[in-house]
Amino acid sequence: MSKSSKDIKCSFCGSGKQDTLMLIAGLDAHICDKCVAQANQILSEELSTRKNKASQSALTLMKPTEIKSHLDQYVIGQDEAKKVLSVAVYNHYKRLNQKVEKDEVEIEKSNIIMVGETGTGKTLLAKTVAKILHVPFCICDATVLTEAGYVGEDVESILTRLLQAADYDVTAAERGIVYIDEVDKIARKSDNPSITRDVSGEGVQQALLKILEGTIVNVPPQGGRKHPDQKMIAVNTNNILFICGGAFDGIEKKIANRLRTQTVGYKVKKDDLSVDLKNLYKYITPQDLRSFGLIPELIGRLPVITHLNPLDREALLNIVTEPKNSLVRQYKKLFEYEGIKLDFDKEVLEFIVDKALEFKLGARGLRSICEAIMIDAMFEAPTDKQQGKELYVTLDYALDKFAKSDLKKLKVA
Ligand code: ADP
Repeated sequence: MSKSSKDIKCSFCGSGKQDTLMLIAGLDAHICDKCVAQANQILSEELSTRKNKASQSALTLMKPTEIKSHLDQYVIGQDEAKKVLSVAVYNHYKRLNQKVEKDEVEIEKSNIIMVGETGTGKTLLAKTVAKILHVPFCICDATVLTEAGYVGEDVESILTRLLQAADYDVTAAERGIVYIDEVDKIARKSDNPSITRDVSGEGVQQALLKILEGTIVNVPPQGGRKHPDQKMIAVNTNNILFICGGAFDGIEKKIANRLRTQTVGYKVKKDDLSVDLKNLYKYITPQDLRSFGLIPELIGRLPVITHLNPLDREALLNIVTEPKNSLVRQYKKLFEYEGIKLDFDKEVLEFIVDKALEFKLGARGLRSICEAIMIDAMFEAPTDKQQGKELYVTLDYALDKFAKSDLKKLKVA
């Protein structure tokens, strides 16, 4: 017995055909467009909660020692920073699982600040931690930020990036990690006259305070300036882990001064005098950050402080060969795609490291020096593809290619 089109109703909400845009027929039922949309929403909410639960249980499994041994596969040396980072990250995610109503002690957020010369692995550490934990991660540069209302980016733009990294999944973004680079560049300019506002320094530090501590921020989903027509996304920063990094050029002097004044006038034990002058970063304290120009409120919100050691020759050599995605492995893979077995003479690797040290480029320089040596081979390899071919890079070959490159014109800093 067929129903007349007038009698057909949505079997879920009861709307008649005239009240809906479309009624989809099933075996013995109908569903209207509104119910389809609603069902779709329920489904996606349920899926995202399940996804969250899955990622949460994955997070709880990672112990600090496990996090560190994963970091060891990608980052050379920096044991102290790795240990501090592993513990801070572990505690942070433990805090996320805490049921505050039951437990009286509320664990505070453990945002981190890493101090160390450029190219020593600060960004790499933060990036690797996020990768291990499978949480959304973004890097932003503190130098582009300004106080709201001035030319430059508002601090909310940081969260726009995180949202983008999380594919606009707000719950995932709210458990993510943000790396704020060059945080030393927003230090207060001490002799700043009070009539001009320090909008890219202290102003930004003030603006960062709330976000770092935990608040609900209205974020423009596409970034850019806030304007009334744009639909904002509310993001709670309470469980976002912030890792700040900076080179803090010149902070060694402040550390040295503090160490000197601390030792003068007191009877000190012999051990206290053996200060490692080559690496003063390891004595860094919040007090030094303050004298560098970070405001105390900001330092208070970055309770975990750690340092990265300058990379010596041995560390750089290890960086070229050891990590899972070391330069040597990357080049070998590239040539493998062309059917060529690539290998480097040990002397070539030493030459690359020595040049990087000479140019004071740190680990960052290794890649460009390698590139200068390998560019011709990489240019020609795809054309004369020969299965089973071998390429052994000798020191003479490297010296010749390097001499012809623009890099050799680099002035030694
Ligand atoms: P920064 O300390 O300035 O943030 P990065 O983490 O960006 O330095 O390092 C730049 C590049 O140098 C990295 O992509 C990585 O290839 C290499 N690198 C630096 N430090 C290390 C390290 N300790 N172990 C392995 N690679 C490193």
